[in-house]
Amino acid sequence: MTSEVENKPVFCTESAKELVKELRASFATGKTKSYEWRLTQLNAMVKMMEEKEPQIVAALHDDLSKPELESSIYEIAMLKNSCRLAVKNMKHWMMPEKAKTSLVTFPSSAEIVSEPLGVVLVISTWNYPFLLSLDPIVGAIAAGNAIVLKPSEIAPATSLLLARLVAEYLDSSCIKVVEGAVPETAALLEQKWDKILYTGNGRVARIVMAAAAKHLTPVVMELGGKCPVIVDSDINLQVATRRIIAGKWGCNNGQACISPDYIITMKDYAQKLIDSFKYELERFYGKNPLESKDLSRIVNSNHFARLSKLLDEDKVSSKIVHGGERDKENLKITPTILLDVPRDSLIMNEEIFGPLLPVFLVDKVEDSFDVINSGTKPLAAYLFTNKKKLKEKFVATVSAGGLVINDTTVHLAEPTLPFGGVGDSGMGAYHGKFSFDAFSHKKAVLYRGFACDAFVRYPPYTRGKLGLLRALFDGSILGIIRALLGWSKA
Ligand code: NAD
Repeated sequence: MTSEVENKPVFCTESAKELVKELRASFATGKTKSYEWRLTQLNAMVKMMEEKEPQIVAALHDDLSKPELESSIYEIAMLKNSCRLAVKNMKHWMMPEKAKTSLVTFPSSAEIVSEPLGVVLVISTWNYPFLLSLDPIVGAIAAGNAIVLKPSEIAPATSLLLARLVAEYLDSSCIKVVEGAVPETAALLEQKWDKILYTGNGRVARIVMAAAAKHLTPVVMELGGKCPVIVDSDINLQVATRRIIAGKWGCNNGQACISPDYIITMKDYAQKLIDSFKYELERFYGKNPLESKDLSRIVNSNHFARLSKLLDEDKVSSKIVHGGERDKENLKITPTILLDVPRDSLIMNEEIFGPLLPVFLVDKVEDSFDVINSGTKPLAAYLFTNKKKLKEKFVATVSAGGLVINDTTVHLAEPTLPFGGVGDSGMGAYHGKFSFDAFSHKKAVLYRGFACDAFVRYPPYTRGKLGLLRALFDGSILGIIRALLGWSKA
């Protein structure tokens, strides 16, 4: 791999310019707009996953030691579902949508036509490097665009595989992969795109948005944040504990944007919850989780150091009640729970994005909402309770990209729900039909004939015409009759 990386031609601003020019030329032929082209690409993507699953699983293992089950289900099967859903529904999504018209334009008919935006850029991240690179592309293809994908350099094996597979299976005159890090992304960002979908952190999101603003390019920002889990005391504790574990350590060892970031529970319930975590974690990952094959490793030494810093803060390190073991050489950190962490600690103020789970204590469960709402808006928020009123209050008062009651992370798998953030956790959304919409322009089309040419629009303007137009805009038949008879107040 090293020699391949060394021999790669340098990708500079000039290369980026040429690339966009080539894709614009391909788009201009109208090829990507045809239903057949879209269908062929999506079917080819499914074929690619069927034929190359072992290679994809191996690349994800190289990059993250990702367990095979997590790769097969959360990256490959999820993407296959996304493709199949688009294949099944695309014809319907592409159809113009009838729109109602009013008296103002009578007689007329109207429709909303979905048209591709043009040439779009997808910048992806490293934690689900396969899914998060190709899932937005499913929507971009379904909507009929030409596409450039820039995978994350932090997952180099998957990035290289994506470059190879996209070239092998998809139409390379319209869909390209540019591998690289900051200089390559910067070169891409200098170009004019018709949309940019960026997945990653908020700092880089600001760089991407500033570059997009220069060309008035619209963006979808899929960002992160601290996803809270409120745990009430009237619950099935075992089921709740397992579902939190599955969403935290069972999702790339906590390196997932919608993984539970911290728990909020009551002072008099916390110990029961901790005991349940200890019991279930040992059943899932054994007595020595450093050896477990079912936990991803930390992606690289920078992130290992970042997580260690969160754990080693003075006011935090004494709060570890479970786990805390680290293996620096193999980049492993065990599932770690911290009880009663102070609110001003680093771990309670930064997105954790790893296997550490602090528990924050409140007197009453209702106090949890203030804790959440005092921070930035999360990408996801979770509540475990049986109380109807509490669920209602949660939905009414917590603003987040998505909410799940009595589970974690599973909303991601529902293509009927939009996936995206709000405020600091992002803008725009995708998945299912929302992906198609994210990469389409909704063109308003109004059809008229030459009959009924309303004289009232034209000068010379009179009080009578004013009265009639007012009545038309009010949609009042009676008003129109009155105006025509000259009885209008105007
Ligand atoms: P990352 O470091 O891989 O960066 C993301 C992309 O930005 C990469 O392609 C990278 O090359 C590019 N990039 C980095 N620095 C840049 C710069 N200075 N200029 C231009 N491009 C640059 O990934 P990350 O940011 O560490 O990802 C983790 C974050 O992503 C977390 O905050 C997580 O919550 C969020 N995330 C969100 C989602 C979602 O769907 N909402 C999914 C996964 C991760």
